[in-house]
Amino acid sequence: MTPFVYRRGVLHAEDVDLRDIAAEVGTPLYCYASAGFEESYLGIARAFAGTPSLVCYAMKANSNQAVLATLARLGAGMDVVSEGELRRARAAGVPAEKIVFSGVGKTEGELAYALDQDIMCFNVESEPELEQISAIASAAGRKARISIRVNPDIDANTHAKISTGTYASKFGIPIKEAPRVYEKAGKMPGLLVTGVDMHIGSQITDLAPFDAAAERLVALARHLIQQGHRLEHLDLGGGLGVVYDPHSNIRPPEIATYATTILRHAKSLGLKLVLEPGKLIAANAGLLLTRVIHVKQGAGKTFVIVDAAMNDLVRPTLYDAHHEIVSVFEKAQDALRECVDVVGPVCESGDYLAQGRTMVLPRRGDLLAVMSAGAYGAVQASTYNSRLLVPEVLVKGSSFAVVRPRQSYEDLIGLDRLPDWLT
Ligand SMILES: *Cc1c(COP(=O)(O)O)cnc(C)c1O
Repeated sequence: MTPFVYRRGVLHAEDVDLRDIAAEVGTPLYCYASAGFEESYLGIARAFAGTPSLVCYAMKANSNQAVLATLARLGAGMDVVSEGELRRARAAGVPAEKIVFSGVGKTEGELAYALDQDIMCFNVESEPELEQISAIASAAGRKARISIRVNPDIDANTHAKISTGTYASKFGIPIKEAPRVYEKAGKMPGLLVTGVDMHIGSQITDLAPFDAAAERLVALARHLIQQGHRLEHLDLGGGLGVVYDPHSNIRPPEIATYATTILRHAKSLGLKLVLEPGKLIAANAGLLLTRVIHVKQGAGKTFVIVDAAMNDLVRPTLYDAHHEIVSVFEKAQDALRECVDVVGPVCESGDYLAQGRTMVLPRRGDLLAVMSAGAYGAVQASTYNSRLLVPEVLVKGSSFAVVRPRQSYEDLIGLDRLPDWLT
């Protein structure tokens, strides 16, 4: 169920008219619907409710405090990939015992901070990292709970920039090395081995890679238990895809089907299951609202120039991602459609939100909604071209709140400092 629907011909976020938000906040802006995060989180939690499990939202997808607090209230844990994310999660009220820490390059300072916070688990990605964590924990007279991220050597059939589960990737350790590395970890003084972890990629729309990877992970866990490791949990990562293009016939698996597949392998192990969905929780809970600046007839091509750009939403440029773009004023089914490029004002030919898109030609001043922008949208925004960081708005029923105000030009310029010799 999408929280964004037309009512009396105008697109609403839950019960709020998007024109009202645009009028108060200005465009471009990200608009999130609480119901979107809540329904997808609860859908995942319910799919695994029959077995001990913890949904650790991969907060790199969208780490706004209001989003984290919305999920934390429902009982979500978090998967963090930096000290900044860990601090954000704690600030939003997420208990440390529900936080796992992933990432290939955690620094000494980050590890020490996370150890001090006593997080649930470090997802360790290399042997040097194991040694480093053990040393830091021993020095502090502590034991760090760890799991090792194994790379099951599965091709997730997704975009190269978001595929992480083959041996060509920088992530995790090869699964065939895992028994040896676990044995080593089990003997390190500062470590408590508690889990096994994987994450094979993002926007995976096919069940087969999850099926194959879960089978390998579960086999490894059984082997480790036989070897005497006292495992407590199995972390299956995230990566389940979402529908970005409602007209495409590619359909990611339903969460219930995904859960059945995972449980078929994992249930008899009796370990607690940890899931790290990011996109599945956030993508369709948000949109990017933008206004048309010009409609420009190029040589043989029409450009719809809008006030949002690649610095606000980089996914089309970075991952060749498709985002549906709809008019806030509903267009008649039989309205004449044209093929256009929807582009931003940034001085880069890679600055587009859609290329070769068939849509009803908008007019200057029209509001457009770039859909499915709740994940990997605002978090990847930059100020390139000295454009202000885009504001974020959260809707709940018939209320809305600015959960990140638009930056000011003073804030933007004030980040820089002049050296002595220029003042
Ligand atoms: C990014 C990431 C996720 C979430 O991926 P989604 O495709 O957003 O579900 C989960 N785990 C790890 C370790 C990640 O890096």
